[in-house]
Amino acid sequence: MDNSNYLQIKKKLPLNVNLLAVSKGFSSEEIKIINNQGQKDFGESRFQEAIEKQLLLKNFTNIKWHFIGRVQSNKIRKIVQNFKYIHSVDSYEKLLKISNVSFEEKKNPLIMLQVKLSDDPNKGGFDPKVLIEKWDHIKQFKSIKIKGLMTINPKGLSSAENIKLFKKCRNLADSLKLHDCSMGMSGDWEEAVEAGSTWLRLGSIIFGNRSY
Ligand SMILES: *Cc1c(COP(=O)(O)O)cnc(C)c1O
Repeated sequence: MDNSNYLQIKKKLPLNVNLLAVSKGFSSEEIKIINNQGQKDFGESRFQEAIEKQLLLKNFTNIKWHFIGRVQSNKIRKIVQNFKYIHSVDSYEKLLKISNVSFEEKKNPLIMLQVKLSDDPNKGGFDPKVLIEKWDHIKQFKSIKIKGLMTINPKGLSSAENIKLFKKCRNLADSLKLHDCSMGMSGDWEEAVEAGSTWLRLGSIIFGNRSY
């Protein structure tokens, strides 16, 4: 692996679109190569794997860690202790627990709420109707900062279908007055940019193919 894919993508991105380098499945040495190009935001989806790399990279204090994997209730305290961003909060109950734990830990994680915009059985998230219903209540939760929404599109959609779903996310975020949309992966990032993504989560297109 080298830094050439990273540099090419970075050049193509509009200035208002942030790039999260998804380093799951790749080593701390590979993270260093990309960090050396000025990349500070790294995303991990498996807690144990992430913690091991964070330990190896503890002197790289400019790295900001984002948790993007399924949030398990029993890991919430550790996630709050070790990640600045959590992109994948998929239920009211977990959000409430994150808020309470953050208060106890004196942390202020930046949160994206994962929303379910298609009926892909493999993907969880808030039902948009429920989110809108509970929004006035949710936005008062203490010790967290809700920055935006996150979505994962099903695989195999056409370009037009991808854009349509991403725009749903953008419109919902706008209606809740949220700035960020964490959307777009290696296979659909161009559509996500077109639809108004502010955070692309890119793994394989930067680091190469993963073993999982
Ligand atoms: C793995 C992963 C990504 C990155 O996927 P690529 O297709 O490798 O870019 C983005 N978001 C989430 C939630 C992931 O788990």
